[in-house]
Amino acid sequence: MNIRIGNGYDIHRLAPERRLILGGVEIPHHLGLLGHSDADALTHAIMDAMLGALSLGDIGHYFPPSDPKWEGANSLLLLEEVNQLIRQRGWHVGNIDSVIIAEKPKMKPHLAAMQEKLAQTLNARNDQIAIKATTNEKLGPVGQEEGIAVYAVVLLFRG
Ligand code: MG
Repeated sequence: MNIRIGNGYDIHRLAPERRLILGGVEIPHHLGLLGHSDADALTHAIMDAMLGALSLGDIGHYFPPSDPKWEGANSLLLLEEVNQLIRQRGWHVGNIDSVIIAEKPKMKPHLAAMQEKLAQTLNARNDQIAIKATTNEKLGPVGQEEGIAVYAVVLLFRG
């Protein structure tokens, strides 16, 4: 098999006095994502999808929240490490598709910048990385603005 598929999911709580960073882009908002690292749920979901595609475990295994080393970490640097990990094994990102679920703020104005950052980090073209955004129609914790969730799928190819 020369192609593999992986899926990833992440959710972080919204909290005051935190920065809101998704796909390495800081989004102006009165709440930010709570977590040990920069809590970049989009980047985390993508990393989990990449690891899952090769049955390499999950990000908690490589970057445990118990390790003070990852406190406030820039998740793009972690993504770079995961990309190295799959490249060392001869695999490359074919394409990524992702969806951010957030009631507020509006994601659309920031999607292009996120795509650019993720493409740069992965040494990929922008058109290999899709980032979509939707609300949760005010339903459940995400709809009540308690957190932001992200789903991602990735296709890897060998070559
Ligand atoms: Mg996370």
